[in-house]
Amino acid sequence: MDIKSFIESLGEKKEELIKKAMQCKNEGELQALANEHGVALDEESAAEIFASMQLKPGKLSDDELDTVAGGSGSEKPSYLCPSCGNRCVWQTICHLCGYKWK
Ligand SMILES: [Zn+2]
Repeated sequence: MDIKSFIESLGEKKEELIKKAMQCKNEGELQALANEHGVALDEESAAEIFASMQLKPGKLSDDELDTVAGGSGSEKPSYLCPSCGNRCVWQTICHLCGYKWK
C-alpha cells in the first residue's frame, strides 16, 4: 500500500488520523494507529508510509531539492502548497496554512 491509497482508505477521519500519524515515532506506532482505526496495514506498508512522512516540508529550495534528489535520496520533492508555498508531504492538507487540495 502506498501513502496515497493509505490516505484514501482513511475516509472521513483522514485529517485527524494524518495529524496523529505525523506524531508517530516509528512504523510500529503507525501500524497500530491504522489498525486501531480499521485500516489494515502490514509492516512493510507501515514502514514505507512512515518513511514518506519523514520528509521535512519547507526546508529546502528547489535547487537544493534537485541536488539531493540526485544524491542521498533522504529528501524527496513534495507537494507545493498553492496557498502559502509550503512543501507538504501529502497532497491533502497543508500543515502550515490549512489549505485543502480538492
Ligand atoms: Zn499552505
